[in-house]
Amino acid sequence: MQQIVIRYSEVGLKGKNRHWFENLLIKNIKKHLSVFGSCQISKIHGRIILETAGEVLPVCNALQYIPGIANFSVAVSASHDMTDIAENALLLTRKFLENKKVESATFKVSARRADKTFPMNSMQLSAEMGGQILDELPALRVDLHHPQMEIGIEIWPKNKSILYLEKIPGQGGLPSGSAGKVISLISGGIDSPVSSWFMMKRGCTPIFLHFHSFPFVGEQSRQKVIDLVAHLSRYQPESTLIIVPFSDIQKAIKTDCSEKNRTLLYRRMMYHIGEKIRKQYHALAFVTGEAVGQVASQTLENLNCTAAVTTVPVLRPLIGMEKSEIIAWAKKIGTYDISIQPFPDCCTVFQPRKPEIHGHLRDIEADEAHLEVEKLIAETMEKLEIMNFQTQTQDKFWS
Ligand code: ATP
Ligand code: MG
Repeated sequence: MQQIVIRYSEVGLKGKNRHWFENLLIKNIKKHLSVFGSCQISKIHGRIILETAGEVLPVCNALQYIPGIANFSVAVSASHDMTDIAENALLLTRKFLENKKVESATFKVSARRADKTFPMNSMQLSAEMGGQILDELPALRVDLHHPQMEIGIEIWPKNKSILYLEKIPGQGGLPSGSAGKVISLISGGIDSPVSSWFMMKRGCTPIFLHFHSFPFVGEQSRQKVIDLVAHLSRYQPESTLIIVPFSDIQKAIKTDCSEKNRTLLYRRMMYHIGEKIRKQYHALAFVTGEAVGQVASQTLENLNCTAAVTTVPVLRPLIGMEKSEIIAWAKKIGTYDISIQPFPDCCTVFQPRKPEIHGHLRDIEADEAHLEVEKLIAETMEKLEIMNFQTQTQDKFWS
């Protein structure tokens, strides 16, 4: 059995609710890893211990995507016996040298004593183990500031200790499902997948909502959004994508309303339909990839005109970011390469030559009154396409 020690971030700070957060994180980890066969999971001393009989690398790849995990280590375990600990420390050291194909390296031992009955304190244990490693492997050198290799030792209660070489960073944040559902308005662009990810990292569960303007935009635009949601489903156990046919509504807006207001009216219709779906799914907020001033529809006046349709919060995690920052995040979370495929979004259909930049809510509402809003909503709600994604069926990602 291989052992992985998982450390969690803010979950550890949750006071009386801590067990609830821990158990949710464990439930999520089990769902994410179910594709790898049986993994045994237990809680010990503010850590989650995962034991697997299978390959470790794909499990590590999957763990890196799970919100709520601060970092984790592939570990070996020992008792409190100093000879046992030293043997395992040497085993890890030799493995490191072998993997790196080197005879020598700088190193540091970082010990942490969770069991205060252990006879040495952390500093003494680190120094003692460092000394024993140097006795056996004199070509090594100690470097406390920038070591090439760091051996972590944690002394746990009940005569158990664990040793590891690296802490692999996780997503941080809170476990998926701890903060409730949100409706995430997702286009095929760079911004909205990033905004969804930010909220997933805060424990929200996005229901992805995409408006698609077939036949004005092609099948490739639809597939791009499916690919984005499939990618984002690495970060939560289950994802739902709802694709809404939007061309009839856009045609009605083109025919009945002022040209300059089109984009704002598209957005308002997205919220009108979004509201119906939000209530069906018991979601508590909307999420968008908007940033102040990025395009004409995202001036403060226009953001007010569009979000006025709903009474629940519209969460905009990118609101103060520059495009270059958003692009850096998109690259980090792996959505950038999908987003930059050159297939248009519905918002480009019948785009006004001179869009309204400083919309007034009363004028926009008056223009919207030219539409049969309720009828358009009802007809559209009949034609939703709903797709479900399970993180564990995305197993091709983990290899
Ligand atoms: P980019 O700006 O990189 O093209 P974007 O996703 O931000 O991508 P915008 O035109 O800036 O696209 O749209 C602003 C926001 O409106 C998006 O972040 C998204 O939340 C929402 N949105 C735009 N188009 C759609 C759509 N077709 N379906 C659902 N939501 C959309
Ligand atoms: Mg944008």
